[in-house]
Amino acid sequence: MTDIVFMGPPGVGKGTQAVVLAERAGLIHLASGDLLRANIRDQTELGLLAKSYVDSGGLVPDELVVDMVLDRMLDAVATLLDGFPRTVAQAVELDRRFALAHRRIDAAVLLTAPRPTLIRRIVGRRSCRQCRAQINIYHSPSRVEGICDVCGGKLMTRSDDNTATAQLRLDVYDDQTRPLVEHYRAAGVLREVEGTGEPAEVGSRIVAALAAASPHPMVGSP
Ligand code: AMP
Repeated sequence: MTDIVFMGPPGVGKGTQAVVLAERAGLIHLASGDLLRANIRDQTELGLLAKSYVDSGGLVPDELVVDMVLDRMLDAVATLLDGFPRTVAQAVELDRRFALAHRRIDAAVLLTAPRPTLIRRIVGRRSCRQCRAQINIYHSPSRVEGICDVCGGKLMTRSDDNTATAQLRLDVYDDQTRPLVEHYRAAGVLREVEGTGEPAEVGSRIVAALAAASPHPMVGSP
């Protein structure tokens, strides 16, 4: 049983890396932002409550997010958490519920990159309305502008991926999420990884960081 947390500021590439690692290591990828956006799209009760927070770039209150993620996590055998926990209160509740289930977080991967790089990655991000493939107009543009290379669907920009909201999300990260680094360092599971460079290069660094500390062969060296 393996459970990994992916941490890092918005735009650092958590989502891109999480998809690849989850596939490679056989983990269920749970992205709190994706779950919230699906609820907003489907206009569920949770989605209606969460929408204004997501649009503004602030955090959705802990009590709305915790059950949404933890119920799914406890249903799965091995998970990769992407974007959760984002506050110390969420991490404490995760630890509490996990302890009851005789589980623990095996590793917390912290991806880092300078702020100007993060803003550029956020503002350039586009995703396909149909197949959800992601591109970046600055460093991995589609062949035809606005059209997905994979399925021909229309590429869209997330409503919170504009410069002003990106700045705010980075401030929220510094204030509310960065303190989690110490939480996981104290637990002895923090793995810091430089998130700049080509996605494949970053992916290799993540696998190496996990292999250096993990007895699990499925996250073995590249
Ligand atoms: P993301 O896709 O991870 O960038 O998340 C997009 C937005 O969803 C964030 O800016 C928050 O408004 C909300 N969100 C995602 N995960 C959480 C979380 N764990 N706690 C609170 N809000 C969250």
